[in-house]
Amino acid sequence: MNDVAFAPAYAEPAGSPIRELFPYLSRPGLVSFAGGYPSPALLDAEGLAQASARVFAGDPAGVVQYGATEGRPGLRAALADMSAGRGVRCEAADVLVTAGSQQAFDLLVRVFVAPGDTVLIETPAYPAAIQSLRLAGAHLTPLPVDMDGLQTDALETLLRAMPAGRRPKLLYTVPTFSNPSGSLLSQPRRERLVQLALEFGFLIVEDDPYGELNFSGAPVATIFAAGQRLAGARNPVLYLSSLSKTVAPSLRVGWMVAPADVLRRCAIAKQTMDLCTSPITQAIALAYLEAQRYESAVRRACDEYQRRMHAMVSALSQALGARIEAPPPGGGMFVWARFDHRVDPQTLFNAAVELGVLFVPGAAFQPQAQDPHTMRLSYAAPSLEAIATGVARLVRAFDIASHGCT
Ligand code: PMP
Repeated sequence: MNDVAFAPAYAEPAGSPIRELFPYLSRPGLVSFAGGYPSPALLDAEGLAQASARVFAGDPAGVVQYGATEGRPGLRAALADMSAGRGVRCEAADVLVTAGSQQAFDLLVRVFVAPGDTVLIETPAYPAAIQSLRLAGAHLTPLPVDMDGLQTDALETLLRAMPAGRRPKLLYTVPTFSNPSGSLLSQPRRERLVQLALEFGFLIVEDDPYGELNFSGAPVATIFAAGQRLAGARNPVLYLSSLSKTVAPSLRVGWMVAPADVLRRCAIAKQTMDLCTSPITQAIALAYLEAQRYESAVRRACDEYQRRMHAMVSALSQALGARIEAPPPGGGMFVWARFDHRVDPQTLFNAAVELGVLFVPGAAFQPQAQDPHTMRLSYAAPSLEAIATGVARLVRAFDIASHGCT
């Protein structure tokens, strides 16, 4: 190839830190707590097969052609209804269907973020969001998180101290059962966040792929709903969600709820990358949602994920005691754990791989000032038996990597 220079963002791009773990996954007998994958056994493949048969028996010609970028009207209406159930009051016209919510986020980054723009990001953060923002040349400002979500007091202090020329455009958060922290943003903080966005003039990107994996079933009001209540038509919240964790990631059906001027620009950005939103997968998704199997499938997954989460958290704390802090999340797919500073993180990772258990080192989720004594563990895909085996292996890895603490 000629010596043509890559565009600056791609000259030395960092790949996904999670995908770099993929080579380990082929090891026989490995227990992986690393992936962000839903359990295939808990996805309703049978329901999807029936939905797909109905689509092709009904109007095959209607789904084999290119389609509208914005999405099919029936699915946009169904997703608007689903969003309304979470307090995101909207119409079909306010919804853009995307190839997963990852694409929705990337579109927002394309239409809002120019190189050097400040973007606030909860930390630990979802790595693909970090990656998308880095490629756009954003100036990332991390915000601390605890089990009640993003710390709005720290955010306020930061905003008040920021020079006017550095004011952020966007704030990215996964407020409900976050990836990776498992945290749930408290209601008062949801409101405070909206007030700060209104005062300082930035938009909040509420990424919500996990909200329905809610173990207690106690309703959680979205930040979007707080934005509507506090600001009406000036709502500073853009809402993203996905069917990936509740129906099937392979469908690639996600969506964005945003004002018309944002949706129009995102649709234009989308046209340059995938020409249209797949009519086949949208038709299958709609047929599936219409079959009334969604709620019971989600309930079943929630119950099982809750069992797996408890099994993981209690086994970890029983075996490792004060060496680990792994608070149980109220939903979602992840446990975020901090461990004793006398445990060497690299030795721990190497020993874990050697013993046949994989986790994601916490540094992957921290754009700056990384705390290496952290890890993300997913309990969604492994069975209860595999969780017991995996935790026992992890405990042995801790013993190998611990210096002066037991
Ligand atoms: N946001 C978060 C926080 C996620 O964890 C994921 C999936 N891992 C996504 C967005 C993207 O999911 P999808 O594109 O499959 O909808």
